Amino acid sequence: MATQVAPDATVKGSAGPAVPEAVDVIIIGGGANGTGLARDLSLRGVRVLLAEKGDLGRGASGSSSGMIHGGPRYLLDDVETTKHSCTDSGYIQAIAPHLCFRIPFLMPVPKANPFGPLGLLLHDVFFDVYDRYTPLKNGIAHAKLTPEQLHATEPGLVGDYLGGVTLDEWGIDVGRLCLLNALDAEAHGAHIATYTTVTAIDRELDGRIVGAQIRHEGQAQSVSVRAPVVVNCAGAWAEAMAKLPPGTAAQQSRNSAQLRPGKGVHLIYEKRVSNFAVITSAKDGRQIFVMPYLNETWIGTTDDDYYGDLDDLWATEDEVQYLREAGEAVLPGLKTQRLIGTRVGVRNTIYGWGQLEDTLSRRYEIVDHAQDGAPGFYSLVGGKLASYRVQAQEMADAVCRRLGVTATCETQKRPLPGGSNLPTVEELMRAYKIDALVARRLIARHGSIAPKVLDLGLATLGGLEVLDPYEPTLACEVRWAVRHEKVTHLGDLMTRCRLAMGADMGMAGGLMAAQIFAEERNLDVQTERAELMDLLARRWRSARPILEGPQLAQMELFMEQFTGNWQLPHLRAARPGMPGKQALHG
Ligand SMILES: Cc1cc2nc3c(=O)[nH]c(=O)nc-3n(C[C@H](O)[C@H](O)[C@H](O)COP(=O)(O)OP(=O)(O)OC[C@H]3O[C@@H](n4cnc5c(N)ncnc54)[C@H](O)[C@@H]3O)c2cc1C
Repeated sequence: MATQVAPDATVKGSAGPAVPEAVDVIIIGGGANGTGLARDLSLRGVRVLLAEKGDLGRGASGSSSGMIHGGPRYLLDDVETTKHSCTDSGYIQAIAPHLCFRIPFLMPVPKANPFGPLGLLLHDVFFDVYDRYTPLKNGIAHAKLTPEQLHATEPGLVGDYLGGVTLDEWGIDVGRLCLLNALDAEAHGAHIATYTTVTAIDRELDGRIVGAQIRHEGQAQSVSVRAPVVVNCAGAWAEAMAKLPPGTAAQQSRNSAQLRPGKGVHLIYEKRVSNFAVITSAKDGRQIFVMPYLNETWIGTTDDDYYGDLDDLWATEDEVQYLREAGEAVLPGLKTQRLIGTRVGVRNTIYGWGQLEDTLSRRYEIVDHAQDGAPGFYSLVGGKLASYRVQAQEMADAVCRRLGVTATCETQKRPLPGGSNLPTVEELMRAYKIDALVARRLIARHGSIAPKVLDLGLATLGGLEVLDPYEPTLACEVRWAVRHEKVTHLGDLMTRCRLAMGADMGMAGGLMAAQIFAEERNLDVQTERAELMDLLARRWRSARPILEGPQLAQMELFMEQFTGNWQLPHLRAARPGMPGKQALHG
């Protein structure tokens, strides 16, 4: 007989999306680790249910810097992390070439550096060592630059430098990475339930795991799903999640998944101001970067201990100011650029005492909670996006050992959906009469599936029209995503095809996308409007911390005009450092 957290709250088979009654493994969390694990296990023939309480990639994965790099700074005291990340980056690039893009970095060495005149030489030697791992991630060896070469390479850069070094890194579209892992897992039999929260874990009286209770958005009650194994991939939420199994009074208490969550903020500017990403220091000496991303520039990132609500993340004025000051000091071109948003996430860093946040190890750990009296319960904590695949592989190996499954990992050699035989930009331009930028973005998002998306465009009225002036998102791409890419809410399109991510915050594209969404889902006008409001609210949440003065007033006016009577009172709520409408107009 299983003990349950809230037996009264569980009604088997209550309304909601169909979920299997029993599986081999329940995975908590749809970030890179959870979706990577779901794919790995499904390819080995294991029956999986993944529950994600929001959209895929809504946690740290989707708010990360998106670099599948080696992290040169870990080389000093965490060489295994550098090696793992570089090796896995190479595999990820091979299975998802369409999602990956090169990011050439410059690291200028200021004259005023801690090593004095030897600073440049020491950086050169350091990167000689990093170069040993660079081929693993298909990178080019570093180059040492004189001050003249440095400024010629990046004319917008200011400062007094001994010279600099280059390094070659890779970025990835993380939202789509999580999606493609989930879609491939589904294609191999997994059940992926988004907007579905794991509310409790069920155990036998002897402590053994027998399943979990899940609740879909909008449902009042949870349903039980049986499984002999539950894996906690809940990111920064993992420590709280690992406290869930109550067992008997005697078994309760230990939790070996201990974290030290670290909040990280990025600022997003509307346009690029450099061709290279630039590594520099903030005023407290911490390393940050200014990076071109698509048409934009990102400054990232902060790293501060975080004790607040993981489900209510905002960038503060201090964080915005801290990053702005550091970025503008090296690339003053940023001063004339418009800030259009923030990305805020919380790292699931493994607990450590007595260290500054950014010196904490980025190693990962597979915790077998048998040691806490809960056999069959595991947590995958810590680590990097850059090594998500190998982390998932090791986790899957442990699960398979427990289940007696002998199949081995295939995720390093099987391409993700769309990841082989990519069309060329010219082919798509010729066949569908579309613009080069549209073709390039479609290939980057869909790879070899891009022609199918465009065929849908030819088959539907206005299907090849660009919806969003800030991102060449086509009407057919929205329709494709709504049909095939696990879209529950209109706001999910922000990570599927960058809807509403530009400077107009979704004013132009949002309305038209809402109409397509409503048409596909047969929604009434009120629901369509509510979905549009939700999209704008999500976008506004990212932008509100960086808007000030006339820009904020203009934005509020736009919102009011656009929505008639825009009812997002919770966004106006007074919060520290974030004046509501009344405060501004008062
Ligand atoms: C600002 C920042 C920048 C970073 N940059 C990089 C980088 O450039 N390169 C790199 O390699 N790494 C980077 N990282 C680290 C990297 O993002 C993380 O290591 C990785 O994304 C963690 O993935 P995850 O799947 O474990 O966690 P997450 O992505 O956080 O996923 C956990 C998921 O669990 C869900 N969840 C929680 N509780 C429940 C529940 N009860 N029921 C159902 N679902 C639940 C959450 O909604 C969430 O989606 C960065 C992290 C941050 C915060």
